[in-house]
Amino acid sequence: MADALPEGDLTDEQQRKIADRWVRVQAEVAQAAQLAGRQPSEVTIVGVTKYVPLSAALALHHAGCRQLGESRPQQLWERAEALRDQSIAWHMIGHLQRNKVPRTIAVSQLVHSVDSERLLLAIDQAAAAAGSRCRCLLEVKVAQDESKHGIAPEDLEGVLHLAAQRSHVEIVGLMTMASLDGTLEQARREFAQLRVLRDQIASKFPEWPLKELSMGMSHDFREAIAEGATLVRIGSHFWEGILM
Ligand SMILES: *Cc1c(COP(=O)(O)O)cnc(C)c1O
Repeated sequence: MADALPEGDLTDEQQRKIADRWVRVQAEVAQAAQLAGRQPSEVTIVGVTKYVPLSAALALHHAGCRQLGESRPQQLWERAEALRDQSIAWHMIGHLQRNKVPRTIAVSQLVHSVDSERLLLAIDQAAAAAGSRCRCLLEVKVAQDESKHGIAPEDLEGVLHLAAQRSHVEIVGLMTMASLDGTLEQARREFAQLRVLRDQIASKFPEWPLKELSMGMSHDFREAIAEGATLVRIGSHFWEGILM
């Protein structure tokens, strides 16, 4: 299984460096967890492969990273198809248009980026048609940043009420991205905001434990882990100096 596909355009050295990087990133994530008084096993690393060729995604998977994330639906479909024999759990982390929902949910083990009621309903409908149930996170816009997608914090309860009436979506948590041009202190405040929001909602809706918090990327995963992230989405930190 592991050698079903050639790693073609990567040199042996690049493959070795990717494997070393995986070890290092795991150690860094574990250290951040320990600093926060948490177990390393509480934090899952999603390796974001959007910048690199398929061969690099495969090399990261072979190194041991079982969860991979893509932000563009088309690339996610192609890669999930090309690597379908591998035991990869794919995560859809980017903005999703409704017409791309059926093919996306067919290959995703978790959709991080549910940013509107309309999208939620489209996912429910597509999952119903496929006879499945889609695990989702609601993307919340806590950053001030105008460019960001996401549900406004004050609208979150309404969206959860809607989700509760649908049987083919399962909301397992929340996702956010920190302000693009903010400091790490600001990122940490935004992550804390998401956690507080989750705690408030979970206390009002016992049926929604919202266990997962997807927050933190290459430059701010330590802050996110300190504030309770259970999923960190790490891209460039894997590839810098090797493929970027
Ligand atoms: C690209 C991307 C990431 C990874 O970003 P890096 O800074 O490269 O780690 C994480 N989350 C989302 C939604 C992304 O689009």
